[in-house]
Amino acid sequence: MGKRIYADNAATTMLSNKAYKTMLPYLMEDFGNASQLYSFARGPKKAIKEARATIADCIGAQPEEIFFTSCGTESDNWVISGAMSKNLNVVTSTIEHHAILRPCKHFSDRGLSVKFLPVDDKGLINVSTLEETIEAENTLVSIMFANNEIGSIQPISELVKVTHSKGCLFHTDAVQAIGHTMINVNDLGVDMMSASAHKFNGPKGIGFLYIRKGIEWPSLIMGGSQECGHRAGTENVAAIVGMAVALQENITTIHENDKHLHELENCLLEELIDSGAKFIRNGSDIRIPGNISLSFQGFIGESIMHRLDLQGIYISTGSACNSEETELSHVLCAIGMDEELAKGTIRISLGKNNTLEESKLIGKALVKIIKP
Ligand code: PLP
Repeated sequence: MGKRIYADNAATTMLSNKAYKTMLPYLMEDFGNASQLYSFARGPKKAIKEARATIADCIGAQPEEIFFTSCGTESDNWVISGAMSKNLNVVTSTIEHHAILRPCKHFSDRGLSVKFLPVDDKGLINVSTLEETIEAENTLVSIMFANNEIGSIQPISELVKVTHSKGCLFHTDAVQAIGHTMINVNDLGVDMMSASAHKFNGPKGIGFLYIRKGIEWPSLIMGGSQECGHRAGTENVAAIVGMAVALQENITTIHENDKHLHELENCLLEELIDSGAKFIRNGSDIRIPGNISLSFQGFIGESIMHRLDLQGIYISTGSACNSEETELSHVLCAIGMDEELAKGTIRISLGKNNTLEESKLIGKALVKIIKP
């Protein structure tokens, strides 16, 4: 087996070297609890303050609007549990991540009203459908910025406008988008936004929730008075610092990363097209750079994944199989894909660390499987 080719960056990304180096002192030397009053806590406290300001700056927010959480899932759960506590109705979509769908299901069994918007064959929500669906002012709309399986980017600012015109709040799960596409919370107008560091070359186990100033959102994690009393738990200082460094690094190089990823995508797709292989590329034209969801009629995505794995190439499937049956992806079902094609779907997600040579190799390896 040759060199490893990691092409599952929508699942997680490699930690940035700069982020790693910045984290180390807060694990070993400056390990104090930032909430303590003695001078040894000053270093971690200052690091958290600076990281919060950096992150806020990266998304056009105020530092006091950033609340650190343990991951994107926690941020999403916080939003839906808050809606339940505040007696709001929820309008969301059928293609959200399970971090939104599962709490919606959990709380709807306990009385929360949840409506699910359909998507078209590209995975996009129709703005007028949202307008027709919002019935009451006390509604929270939660629509993901970019889909993790097919990469489609929603028309967020239009969805926000409609939501606000009805006097309602808008949350976006931007876990797949932050650090990969420019996001300014004020330009978009979103009221809340979820993020996760490991999707933008930060460490795992850290994320944040942006909450616009003036919005009172009930806590999910209760205990100590960290995060101004809104999210308890001793701060993971090293991870917070690493997240800020990784985000700033990605934002600084966002245009070159975008250009690079488009070159990689084209290179890989050219290999497939030149071979005459038949495939469908899923998702909308405006999508997260590097996200390539491909469907192959008559093939099983999981077996393609395993065959690439044997060659040291790591990608993802569209639908997960177990020994009994294939669990079809809810996203592929929602875009109207038939069962057979959904089973033959894979997701390649290229990242900034991938090279042209790797893209070409993935393309060639795929061609060998599809057109032996
Ligand atoms: N939301 C989306 C769109 C995701 O893609 C993911 C992870 O894949 C999550 C939420 C959950 O994030 P985390 O892994 O940080 O809990």
